[in-house]
Amino acid sequence: CLVDANLHTDVSKSAALFERAKSILPGGCSRNTILRKPHPIYAERGQGCYVYDVEGVRRVDFANNIASLIHGHAHPAIVAAVSEQLQKGTAFTLGTEVEIDYAEYIRSRNPAFERIRFVNSGTEAVMASLKAARAFTRRPKIAKVEGAYHGLYDYAEASQTAKPDNWGQPERPSSVAVSRGTPQRLLDDVVVIPFNDVQRALEILDEHRDHLACVLVDVLPHRIGVIPAAEDFVQALRRWTEQNGALLIFDEVITFRSKFGGAQQWYDVQPDITALGKMIGGGFPVGAIAGSADVMEVLNPLNGPALFPLSGTFSANPITMIAGHTAMQLYDREAVDRLNALGDRARSSIGEAIKIADVPVCVSGRGSMFRIHLSADAPENYRQAYLSAEKAALLSAFVGYLFDGGLLMVETGTGFLSTAMSEQDIDDMTAVVLGALRKIKP
Ligand code: PLP
Repeated sequence: CLVDANLHTDVSKSAALFERAKSILPGGCSRNTILRKPHPIYAERGQGCYVYDVEGVRRVDFANNIASLIHGHAHPAIVAAVSEQLQKGTAFTLGTEVEIDYAEYIRSRNPAFERIRFVNSGTEAVMASLKAARAFTRRPKIAKVEGAYHGLYDYAEASQTAKPDNWGQPERPSSVAVSRGTPQRLLDDVVVIPFNDVQRALEILDEHRDHLACVLVDVLPHRIGVIPAAEDFVQALRRWTEQNGALLIFDEVITFRSKFGGAQQWYDVQPDITALGKMIGGGFPVGAIAGSADVMEVLNPLNGPALFPLSGTFSANPITMIAGHTAMQLYDREAVDRLNALGDRARSSIGEAIKIADVPVCVSGRGSMFRIHLSADAPENYRQAYLSAEKAALLSAFVGYLFDGGLLMVETGTGFLSTAMSEQDIDDMTAVVLGALRKIKP
């Protein structure tokens, strides 16, 4: 246990804050993801790999604002760079050199990123990628993987929360809405393919061949259990899109951390467009769309109206640009390798803990991400990853035990490492995981 039990028993400050929050914020929050039953715990501050709550309890942060803090909290170099920029102004109607510097730097990490546009979130990056694909191909439909999370754009959301009673036959997954606010006619333009099932995916794509603008894929989708896309699946999508005049879009909002130039380098595949976000903002809101020069030309307003005009009041604001640039320069090849090695250590030591506890649990993931599954085998697709109410309650209890033991993890049992962590932090984490596994042992 990494936390002082006496400190931990008092959550009165958080409880009082939640009472206030509920009367002004629907559900007491602006992001449903902070919710933790019976009420959220509120953060006071963060430093390195630690986050301190308002009660003064310190936890090791394996959530890192859902994978957006690659260096943990308040990295001194990022704080210094942002503080300097703050003095000079935070947002201008004019362009800035820091934006150009950062765009050039991102391009230097991956030759597929011939042109880049910055936006303010991963949602916007995915939305812009899909719109760019439709503008480029002049086709209406998009294809995405069943259950995969890509943010809040209606089309990208389709099927993300599909359930057994509405997800349809496995050979024809349904395009179902997450929100009552999404009209059915939008969903009709979304083609849903099963993850890692080449034959079925290609059959479905073939049926929409002439209308598909793009195929959108995340090669380590967290809603599908942080299991890697198979090499043949990714290669098949690349071939199919190339042969059928559609674009291949990689959502690397989270996975960009995986290799110096992103998870696409695991596959030796060059997508036409990559959506980026999270860690490339250095802790500030960000998104980016990067792709080949010919595709990205749809955004160009210099030779007449752009096919896809894209603006945003705070896009490429200098605070995000300087924070992101500083963070990414620190996340160099050596840092990427070190973090991935730490990820290997985390997965293998959690595997050892599972053996010691002798429980039907397993661990998945790749690079600096892992997921603990309360089942003997990792899921292979969204339908297998879908949790019954009973399984979800057990997972929630498990993540609660981790929290009580001093670990902050994503509620799905997922951990995202930061460079602020050491091997000792991983070993301490494993000890807490072992304790939690013993508590849930049947
Ligand atoms: N794509 C993926 C793979 C994500 O995980 C997320 C957020 O979790 C998004 C897109 C959306 O990013 P944002 O929350 O910044 O809008």
